[in-house]
Amino acid sequence: MTVQFRAFAREAANLIMPVACAGCGALDIAVCETCFAELYRPLRRIDADARYLAGVLPTYASADYAKARRLTLAYKNHARRDIAPLVLAAARAAGEEWFSRTSAESHDVAQVAEQLASGGCLVAIPAPSGRARRWRRRLVAAELAEAFLTGVRDSALIRLGAPPRLAVADILRKPLAAELSGHLAPLGAADRAAARRAAVVSIGELAKDDIAILIDDIVTTGATLGASVRTLRRDGVKVASAWALAATEMKSAPGALMARHN
Ligand SMILES: [Zn+2]
Repeated sequence: MTVQFRAFAREAANLIMPVACAGCGALDIAVCETCFAELYRPLRRIDADARYLAGVLPTYASADYAKARRLTLAYKNHARRDIAPLVLAAARAAGEEWFSRTSAESHDVAQVAEQLASGGCLVAIPAPSGRARRWRRRLVAAELAEAFLTGVRDSALIRLGAPPRLAVADILRKPLAAELSGHLAPLGAADRAAARRAAVVSIGELAKDDIAILIDDIVTTGATLGASVRTLRRDGVKVASAWALAATEMKSAPGALMARHN
């Protein structure tokens, strides 16, 4: 981490424009060391405490969204394209760490390793977003997926002794509200909003031997990831796992969720 940070800081120092940390606003650096460290936190499982993911999908996250909110939003919204290389380096490190997990600690990784060893392809599928934000968001999700897979490749060369088959497939979409109106009409306002958030369609197919990992930038409730995995599995796609750049800490969530639903 320190080596990567130094290289990054050196590059940032070469910029002519005055800069401030995209995370905390500290002057003269694009991302300060504290904010940088938040992106490089060891992977943690977030599904156990996430209402829409528990028992459904092993899901990992790198940064804590509460601490890296400004930084991840600046990247996601393209407000600071200068920090993209740093974020993508963190995604790559996450992919490498994920695929280095032992079979005993991560059944999903073991499942993927087995599939790759028998000639299957690991397909990274970006989580879908609303159409209005789609263009920018698509670039973000696709480049995160690419970077994550690069990390998987590094680790797979050691674990499997051969380069694995890897691909990114941007096949998930959120339908427009108008396209859902027929299904939503009988529901109350709150249920309608929830159903709209949760609606995900797939516009592509995967080969029979493929196994998928979902990639997202920021996970808050996990509703979109939950809907994505349901849609894919309905189509017969094997979905092993999911990774997000940042996620809210779910441990304290039950109270907050209750409050929202009351
Ligand atoms: Zn900072």
